[in-house]
Amino acid sequence: MQVFTAPGRAGAAIIRPLTQCTSDSHLKNSGTQKPNALKVIPRAAHHVSRDEISKSALKVLYRLHKAGYQSFLVGGCVRDAMLDLHPKDFDVATNATPEEVRALFGNCRLIGRRFRLAHVRFGREIIEVATFRAASNHAHDDHAHDDEGRIVRDNVYGSIEEDVLRRDFTCNALYYNIADFSIWDYVGGVRDVERKRLVLIGDPDKRMREDPVRMLRAVRFAAKLDFEIDTAAEKAMAKDVPLLANVPAARLFDEFLKLFQAGFAEKTFDLLRKYKLFAELFPATDEALDQNPSFLQFVRAALQNTDRRVRADKSVTPMFLIGVFLWKPTKDLAAIRRSEEKMSESQSLSLASYELGVSQQRRIAIPRRFTVPMREMLALQPRFQQTRGKRAIKLLEHRRFRAAYDFMLLLADTGQFDKDKAEFWTKVQNQSAEQRAASFQIDAQPKGRRRRRRRPRSKPSKSR
Ligand code: ATP
Ligand code: MG
Repeated sequence: MQVFTAPGRAGAAIIRPLTQCTSDSHLKNSGTQKPNALKVIPRAAHHVSRDEISKSALKVLYRLHKAGYQSFLVGGCVRDAMLDLHPKDFDVATNATPEEVRALFGNCRLIGRRFRLAHVRFGREIIEVATFRAASNHAHDDHAHDDEGRIVRDNVYGSIEEDVLRRDFTCNALYYNIADFSIWDYVGGVRDVERKRLVLIGDPDKRMREDPVRMLRAVRFAAKLDFEIDTAAEKAMAKDVPLLANVPAARLFDEFLKLFQAGFAEKTFDLLRKYKLFAELFPATDEALDQNPSFLQFVRAALQNTDRRVRADKSVTPMFLIGVFLWKPTKDLAAIRRSEEKMSESQSLSLASYELGVSQQRRIAIPRRFTVPMREMLALQPRFQQTRGKRAIKLLEHRRFRAAYDFMLLLADTGQFDKDKAEFWTKVQNQSAEQRAASFQIDAQPKGRRRRRRRPRSKPSKSR
């Protein structure tokens, strides 16, 4: 059954009389599922300026508004604008249905089967327009939960009052109204932004169970915004951490990218470890970290390096950090494989990283385009030991040289690879062909040396 309580083109009519709420009633009410009195912060009382909103988002907002619909910016963009963090993504919420949105915009595509969303495209920028959704706890609607309380179906349109309640944190549930540039706050989000606190809307345990990814989101926002996680949310997290195992591995890969490629990887890592979430995501790594301070040092150096790159707008690939996380477990397993069977160190690293990759996939579905280069990067590490001869010089041409070299430098920086050898590999990259040949002592081999003639193969025996 689809319930749509806010029919299109009646936008102005359904807007409730605005209640100016000055009390802290939302704080007393936390834990309930009823929206609190709406607090409207007029334009003069906040500093979210239209200059902070992309032109494309403004176009979408104005066109919806002119067509008679309610039209708001919502979520992270309002929060970040309030915090002067210059938002880049803009999400729009409206009472227009996706079909009604599409009718207004030529450049619009409807996506999603479970819950339809409109994507309005302006060149490379996409503005996501979502119809208000109903809260997840209505007995009469067609939401469905699994045994642990996780939402598995979520496709009911609703009003703005209902839409507020399905959002995760109060700071993410602020609505910027294009009609008069005011901010609508039903849940005390403005105050929580000011207090720098991540407060879950509704009953914390129930909200974490509905979607255990919210635990990762709590950590991600705490790291990015420098917010404290509210005690009630912390308590729920302490209990609900194992529920992360029920989240599809593909979704966790998307979350992994957001956690570690946003420029706050080190802080995020510390918080994930603090709340025992890291062990759910990377069990083998977590165990190795507990036992090896030098591995922790190496991981930390890699995270700092990633943060520096992201902040300098340099590219980062997830395979590098995943390789770092799996390095110590891979090395340990490789040593075991070598003791079982004769093989080179490189071969054993490749085999071990394959095996660990397979068990890691059960937690986080890492696409093959990342696992294959990651294995190559790890398997190349022993080759940096060799600084003489043709095989050694060939490493410079390997397609994974760059990543493997960066990886080796981090090992050297943290005292886990010979510093002189690391310098050698840095130096040779800037040398001419002749200089390189000298560095790798390739010339040392006598010139014009006669090739040894191969012994003729013995004839195959007749019995074969
Ligand atoms: P950022 O863009 O910095 O990652 P964001 O808050 O915009 O932060 P998004 O993942 O883009 O996060 O989601 C947009 C909004 O949708 C959120 O602010 C929140 O209101 C809502 N939302 C997203 N994911 C969830 C979730 N798992 N549970 C409840 N609400 C969610
Ligand atoms: Mg966002």
